[in-house]
Amino acid sequence: MDRLEQLRDPSSWRRAVVLVRRFRQEPGTANLRRFAPLAEAVLRERAALHELDDEALSERAGRTANTDLADDGDLVGYLAVASEVARRRLGMEPFEVQLLAAVSMLRGRVVDMETGEGKTLVGFLVAAGLAVTGRRVHVLSANDYLAGRDASAGATLFEAFGLSCAAVVDGMDHADRRAAYRSDVVYATVHQVGFDLLRDRQRFEDAQRLVPDLDAAVIDEIDAVLLDDAMVPLVIAGDGEPRPEEASLAGVVAAMTAGVDYEVDGERRNVSFNEAGIAALEEHHGVDDLYAKDHVGLLTAAHVALHAHALMECDVHYIVAEGQVRLVNDARGRVADRQRWPDGLHAAIERKEGLEVTAPAEVLDQMLVETVARGYRVITGMSGTALDASVRLAEDLDLRTGAIPTNRPGIRVDEPDRLYLTAEQRDAAAADRVRAAHAAGQPVLIGTASVADSERFAVLLADRGVDAVVLNAKNDAAEAGIIARAGEHAAVTVSTQMAGRGVDIRLAPQAVAAGGLLVLGLGRYDSARLDHQLRGRAGRQGDPGRSAYYTSLDDDVVTEHLVINMDPRTVDADGRVRDKRFRRIYDHAQRVAEGKLLQLHRTTRRYHTATDQHRRLLLDTRERLLTDPTALEDYLAHVWTAGSDQPHRWTRPARRRLATEVALYHLDRAWTRHLNLLAEVREGIHLRVLGRQDPLDEFNLIATDDFRALAQAAAAATRHTLDAASENATTLADLGLRRPSSTWTYMVADNPFGSEADRFFEFIGQALRGSQPPAISYT
Ligand code: ADP
Ligand code: MG
Repeated sequence: MDRLEQLRDPSSWRRAVVLVRRFRQEPGTANLRRFAPLAEAVLRERAALHELDDEALSERAGRTANTDLADDGDLVGYLAVASEVARRRLGMEPFEVQLLAAVSMLRGRVVDMETGEGKTLVGFLVAAGLAVTGRRVHVLSANDYLAGRDASAGATLFEAFGLSCAAVVDGMDHADRRAAYRSDVVYATVHQVGFDLLRDRQRFEDAQRLVPDLDAAVIDEIDAVLLDDAMVPLVIAGDGEPRPEEASLAGVVAAMTAGVDYEVDGERRNVSFNEAGIAALEEHHGVDDLYAKDHVGLLTAAHVALHAHALMECDVHYIVAEGQVRLVNDARGRVADRQRWPDGLHAAIERKEGLEVTAPAEVLDQMLVETVARGYRVITGMSGTALDASVRLAEDLDLRTGAIPTNRPGIRVDEPDRLYLTAEQRDAAAADRVRAAHAAGQPVLIGTASVADSERFAVLLADRGVDAVVLNAKNDAAEAGIIARAGEHAAVTVSTQMAGRGVDIRLAPQAVAAGGLLVLGLGRYDSARLDHQLRGRAGRQGDPGRSAYYTSLDDDVVTEHLVINMDPRTVDADGRVRDKRFRRIYDHAQRVAEGKLLQLHRTTRRYHTATDQHRRLLLDTRERLLTDPTALEDYLAHVWTAGSDQPHRWTRPARRRLATEVALYHLDRAWTRHLNLLAEVREGIHLRVLGRQDPLDEFNLIATDDFRALAQAAAAATRHTLDAASENATTLADLGLRRPSSTWTYMVADNPFGSEADRFFEFIGQALRGSQPPAISYT
């Protein structure tokens, strides 16, 4: 590759952009060089510790407990001891760059450290450093497998400082989780923590509490958590009441015909009732005007049923297995565990397939991944692609990010992208390249956009006599084993972006001789950050390695975000586009994609802001009822008007307990009803406000009104229940109140067509921008 080509290469280009931004002191970037003297001081100080025997070292470690590391000298002293402990107990002596990263993180910065540079060890140093100052630390890992792996790998280091350490992973029962959260350092995914917080909010006894409180978080792969997964709603649901009106709705919609009762748009992404369809619904339900305010719920449910009927296809969007609808999640794995569509859609599909509708799940509470992260008092983190996310991290979380140099100079070669006319030509060229590399003994890792792409590509390789291992992110632990071997002689591994994240790929000696790992991307992702993450798998710790992206004008990222109104002038026989005007086409498409995503995140966040505030208010009351002995009196005084002697009936210990449970029960019910109303309003809002008010204002108005009414309704219901309670009632059941008999947690998968709200904003956005996606036309 000539010098000029290298200059055009996206990753060195990216570094240059970051340098310029830092030079201009733009938000989000931090110069970590100021911490270099501290890292050097650690090196000097730890040299002296070599002499100490184990006992003396332990004694030194013990002495760091409860020092706050605010003083630079204390910080250096702690890291020197921790470094020596790591050398003896873990067999790894932290490199200077790792010490620089640890210092920076303990001083509140986020660090960008390339893949393979040893972020796990840095995480140990930082977590222990925060914990010795008396903080409760959560290290948030990318998946359960990594949480378990890292917690056990770091245990002996933590132990040396008298710190306990545990992982929280799927499958642990309540008692084990409770115990694990009481460790000084807890390894878990942000999802586990979020689900447990949701469970805590449903508890009826304070002693049941799982998560003590959120204090300090060290977030591994921080951009994945705070950007990619930020807007994923975590949900806790319980079995709820049947909804007969939705069942009858499904019957009406199932009898409808495209072109008569409803219209499907050309790309099969959108569907809407026409007049005949609306008339049929109105007649069936005996309502005059389905668009009237009172019928928001019905109208929304009808749209959802129509979606399921007209757009969702079995074996494409979902499969039916063992009487259940299971989601097909194309990007992550074939069948997605623990995922449901938003509730109405899921039930509508079950009805369409004639399945038993799962106990209508009632959403008891939910929160965004981002909200979990924001709950920590202190956040720091690390990632191989943190710099690409620095502006967002600064804007969203007020975090500053800096770059850590690699331990050894990187010698990975990043080739400029190759662009082909069609995806077929792209894949054929890439498959030929894999065959050649494989024949020469070079290991190859191929990254694809989806599981379907991975499988298609493996067939192309098989046609060329190359056996490939295909990963599809179904089982993190099994995949970790496979990806760890992706650097062996002539290994060929095909994987989606998600698979094997966080697992180190070591090169076998023959593979080094053959040029190291070759990483091929089939199409770039919709963000340059994710591209960079895949490239980072090659050339770890100064290894040889090479990366190349094979792209085409057919790729979704290009077709979804750009309209290209010109033909390439120079094209090779194999379809490779040589026309220079097309060189930056992907960068352009990615910028459009990132802009849209940012807009969507902002919108989603705005829709959650008021609800988050309301939830905090409600939880305050709830927590006080659970933990403060005087809170019940206060609450009951508010439930009955002043002067009533009713509250006194509820002060004997057993009666108190029951009254508390009744109050909690009605608060929870009111909150659940509130959330369900909000979900309906959010989904249906654009049907009502199109062209009139700002939908967000309208939404917030409804939310605030309903929340005010909620507190009163809960108090009134409590009064009602307690007034009617017989003297010998001891449980909620005696009072005729039923709590969900079971609860379960899940993440809401993206509706493959986007929610109604998403589509609305897309529509408005396009109207504002002039109705067309941006067109490429270089002159
Ligand atoms: P990252 O998370 O940055 O991609 P890892 O934490 O997975 O990197 O570490 C990559 C590899 O480097 C692991 O095999 C780890 O054991 C090794 N390693 C990290 N730091 C050191 C060190 N100071 N000395 C020796 N090996 C190290
Ligand atoms: Mg890692």
